[in-house]
Amino acid sequence: MRVSCLFGLLLAVSFPLAAAPVLFEGGRVIIDARRAPIENSAFLVDNGRIVKIGKKGELKPPAGAKRVDLTGKTVIPALIDPHVHLGYQKDLSYAAANFTRENVIGQLNRDAYVGIAAVLSMGTDLGDLAFEIRKEQDAGKLGGALLFTAGRGMAAPNAGPGNAELKPSAYSLTTETEARQAVREQVARKVAFIKVWVDDRNGAVKKTPPAIYRAIIDEAHKRHTRVVAHVYYLDDAKDLARAGADAFAHLVRDKEMDDESIALIKQHKILIMPNLGIAEARTHVNPAPWLDEPLFRDVTPVALVERMRAAYSGRTPANVEAAQRTYRTMQRNVAKLVAAGVTVGFGADSGAVPDYFHAFITHRELQLMVEAGMTPAQALTAVTATSADFLRLKGHGMLGAGKAADFVVLDANPLDDIANTRKISRVYLRGEELNRATLRGSFR
Ligand SMILES: [Zn+2]
Repeated sequence: MRVSCLFGLLLAVSFPLAAAPVLFEGGRVIIDARRAPIENSAFLVDNGRIVKIGKKGELKPPAGAKRVDLTGKTVIPALIDPHVHLGYQKDLSYAAANFTRENVIGQLNRDAYVGIAAVLSMGTDLGDLAFEIRKEQDAGKLGGALLFTAGRGMAAPNAGPGNAELKPSAYSLTTETEARQAVREQVARKVAFIKVWVDDRNGAVKKTPPAIYRAIIDEAHKRHTRVVAHVYYLDDAKDLARAGADAFAHLVRDKEMDDESIALIKQHKILIMPNLGIAEARTHVNPAPWLDEPLFRDVTPVALVERMRAAYSGRTPANVEAAQRTYRTMQRNVAKLVAAGVTVGFGADSGAVPDYFHAFITHRELQLMVEAGMTPAQALTAVTATSADFLRLKGHGMLGAGKAADFVVLDANPLDDIANTRKISRVYLRGEELNRATLRGSFR
């Protein structure tokens, strides 16, 4: 009985009723934010891929193709967020006990709902769950944003994630031998990246020492696995660059970056995730207007929205001023990196702290990148083509013949105003339109 049920499920998923090809006509398509959009476009989707793309009227659909009119709409590649921490927040509770299949899948569905095709969970995944979910997604048995995982991240004892609930997920490393062993364990699990934390949390913990992170990077590179480093201090960023880190999960935040640090980042081709949102959220005394935005409300539990709103009143002017100083440094560093031609990636760090909830804030992060001096096209490139390249997700992050049919239909053009990425009309992942109304109901 069990076997036949399972077989039925596999059949249902592996061989869906042969969906007819679909011709999407009349929309503006941003195939790649670095290039001019195709106005009044037509593109044909079949079997999860874009088969052809061109101008409306030039593309002849095959017999039996369905047509979808996208006049007045703008189509962008689905977003990719390579810095999230799934599973810890559930309604008002933020705890390792929430790291369950149901909760993680719920968050991947919220991500999909807002147009995110893939996420990288950055070193705080417990047990086998992330690997199991990914396997099911690869087999076509599970939807949501595709889950990439950095498994368990690495740090000196207590020097991993800042939040107490996240801390036990990281390795506690005291010797180079342990560090190399930890890397071998994670590589054996086929993690997408190794994550390492280098931060003293404002003097509260003893930083991961250079000998340990050098052993981690060396061992990972021997095994063809890249390393993403959490950085805070300028001096650590320089040494991590020299040590061969492949990406920084954050900006330098203690001071403005100097020419030497930028030269090192360029020389070593390090990708930088600006990761502005958590710091920006602390710079205001009044509740953010986006707390009332429909897209945010759709994916965020009501009680959580209200607790976020209430949090503003607990802030002191001194707290807010300090946060603003740090944030201005971060903004200047983004502008410097962009001006220098460094590869600016994307990462919203959703779930890293309580009440910094998944999905909507990926869109919010784009707006902050633009406020820091990036153009809408640069921000959009970071969250699509650059992030796909970073995850080695071939055929994603851009639209065009042969590419994955992962795209978001917007009511307005994000190149005019980046906040228009939130004006979502429809989301298509793997060629299928998401049933967003049903998903929305499941978030309640
Ligand atoms: Zn993080």
